[in-house]
Amino acid sequence: MYFPLQDIEAAKLNVDDPDHLRIHSLETFGTHDGPGIRMVVFVQGCQFRCVYCQNPDTLDVKGGTLVAIDELVKRAIRQKGFFGKDGGVTVSGGEPLLQRSKLKTFFIKLHEVGINTCLDTNGRLNNEEVHELLEHTDLILLDVKHINDEWHHKLTGLTNKNTLALAEYRESTGKPMWLRYVLVPGWTDQEEYVEEWARHFKDYKTVQRVEILPFHQYGKHKWESLGMNYVLKDLESPTEEVKQRTLNIFSKYLNNVVLK
Ligand code: SF4
Repeated sequence: MYFPLQDIEAAKLNVDDPDHLRIHSLETFGTHDGPGIRMVVFVQGCQFRCVYCQNPDTLDVKGGTLVAIDELVKRAIRQKGFFGKDGGVTVSGGEPLLQRSKLKTFFIKLHEVGINTCLDTNGRLNNEEVHELLEHTDLILLDVKHINDEWHHKLTGLTNKNTLALAEYRESTGKPMWLRYVLVPGWTDQEEYVEEWARHFKDYKTVQRVEILPFHQYGKHKWESLGMNYVLKDLESPTEEVKQRTLNIFSKYLNNVVLK
């Protein structure tokens, strides 16, 4: 299932007003999206429609607020003293790659003042502009939501092909990457696919860490307040047994697997 209208709007998002990013919100002292203490910029707009999305209010590519890139850099500089040696700025979403050219500018400016850059993405796009952005990205947090393309479609509305290709591209650059996997009962916890996912990445040299993120209902109220159909409204979080089983399968093939 594709979203042509969103695609057109998303293409505009990348080029309109090159000095401003369309953002949803900002978090200071974030500790969940990348190493150390970070300023997290949640950008607006996403073309995936993950059934478990915790931030459905970030999906609309026309929503959010336009904020000057220079203003975001200024804020990051003010917080730089708290970042320590591992922290910095993470751009999350929504889906950052929709504003890839502007993010390249943002990341270059952050590097000019010695601030570490991290990109949290679903890997929906894999093209020259994205590769240019990745040159200025110290760490990519790549969400590989399902290894089976049919299930990936069911889960997100779109294919996993670009995401897997982007992982391969990042591997070819030798620059670091973390992988993330949201564990959703009945959707992403199938043993054979968990095994296939882990095997797919077992020879990657750039994967420094793998995070398993168990599904929870924190975003439920947002779906309800937006009047959107939330198909997982009655779903429980994964059991301890399933979480442990997934951790064990991943750990057979991959190093530094963390259950969040
Ligand atoms: S990729 Fe992220 S922001 Fe987009 S729908 Fe999925 S969970 Fe939500």
